[in-house]
Amino acid sequence: MTARQTGAGRTGAATDRDNWAGTYTFTAPRIEHPETVEEVARLVRESEHVHALGTRHSFTDLPDTAGTLIQTDRLRTAPTLDETARRVNVGAGTRYGVLAEWLHARGWALHNMGSLPHISIAGATATGTHGSGDRLGILSTAVSGLEFVASDGSVERVGRGDTDFDGLVVGIGAFGVVTSVTLDVEPTYDVRQDVYTGLTWDALLDDPGEIFGAAYSVSVFAKWAAETTESVLLKSRIGVDGPSPDRIAGARIEEAGAVVPASATQRGGVPGPWSLRLPHFRLDATPSIGEELQAEYFVPREKAAAALRAVREFADRIDPVLGMTELRTTAADSLWLSGSSERDTFAIAFTFLRRPAEVYALLPDLEAALRPFGARPHWGKAHTFDAARIAEVWPLAQRARELFDRLDPRGAFVNDHLRRLGVR
Ligand SMILES: Cc1cc2nc3c(=O)[nH]c(=O)nc-3n(C[C@H](O)[C@H](O)[C@H](O)COP(=O)(O)OP(=O)(O)OC[C@H]3O[C@@H](n4cnc5c(N)ncnc54)[C@H](O)[C@@H]3O)c2cc1C
Repeated sequence: MTARQTGAGRTGAATDRDNWAGTYTFTAPRIEHPETVEEVARLVRESEHVHALGTRHSFTDLPDTAGTLIQTDRLRTAPTLDETARRVNVGAGTRYGVLAEWLHARGWALHNMGSLPHISIAGATATGTHGSGDRLGILSTAVSGLEFVASDGSVERVGRGDTDFDGLVVGIGAFGVVTSVTLDVEPTYDVRQDVYTGLTWDALLDDPGEIFGAAYSVSVFAKWAAETTESVLLKSRIGVDGPSPDRIAGARIEEAGAVVPASATQRGGVPGPWSLRLPHFRLDATPSIGEELQAEYFVPREKAAAALRAVREFADRIDPVLGMTELRTTAADSLWLSGSSERDTFAIAFTFLRRPAEVYALLPDLEAALRPFGARPHWGKAHTFDAARIAEVWPLAQRARELFDRLDPRGAFVNDHLRRLGVR
């Protein structure tokens, strides 16, 4: 199967050894696509080195291995819903958008989605993938249970409240192959998306809280040198948020009938199911720009304005290699390796053009500018952090490493990336 057949729309991948954006070519000698947990267990047992691979939407060598890559695209056990407990269990390789449609059809919902519905649930969980919302945790905070194949080939289950559970949810593939995930659900709800334009950088920097507190989920899209941001996207939850105002911090709501990219979920204030409004992109369409390289940093929310000012100093170097920046917020959680671990967070994302030499030349300077704010990188995106810097910003990184080493004493899930970051 080629990357173009994974159902992820247009990709930058040229071969079935490339990740989705075409920014990394896997070196693993074997890529397997098991269909059952038993097959996963056999592959783990017989492989000296092994690693899980989801829909390949991370941007680096993070999932690679010197042995067997276990791609989860056929681990798509049908969802089972427990309406009393308000939980759904689903195969690890299921794409978020597929589960979302299934849940909505039965009257249920997730609390949030990432921008892209094409990503696998276990892969998104493992890297701490997030959407936006001042009071909304990252997607992994909805996880109440994991089933995984451990280093010795045994099938293990952990649930919320178990010792070490908080260390395993955002697990970056470091301790096993997750085969199914249990997620919290709630009754389905509707959302409307409204676009605002004309928000100046000055107004944003003056009070980011006014913008991001304006609805259930808010994103600001921007380039850095201009006086004015590109747009603000408000996702208002019907019945919770009030009617969308005509203006927010000087930005004006777009007239009905404004042009919307064909790949985008419906905007223009038309209420619709959460599953078709919370992701920016449609599951059946071409997402994002394909040939891109993303980086993202998480700072404490109260430092948002100062961190943005620090990044703006680099505007003239960022914009020539930038597709778009997206700014979002997430709520604090207790997951050890979450980007929002123990702090309400402001997320600064860069969708760069796929020009790795220029981007990787810029990142160390950006990271140095964000260092005073304790910025953490997104595990699944480009960054240049080493083990010392990871330990500096994630107080529980050492504890996570001890947990992963204890669960995988033979080092089957160790790879170059995790070693570089000191996580294994
Ligand atoms: C266009 C685009 C838009 C994006 N939008 C967002 C966004 O809105 N918010 C955000 O936070 N991120 C976003 N991302 C990043 C993306 O969500 C993460 O990279 C995520 O990990 C992708 O999931 P995947 O299944 O493709 O993971 P992969 O890239 O396949 O793997 C990533 C990591 O997860 C591990 N993993 C995968 N499956 C398993 C498993 N079954 N068991 C154990 N470990 C596993 C791998 O070992 C690896 O460490 C975006 C990426 C792209 C390309």
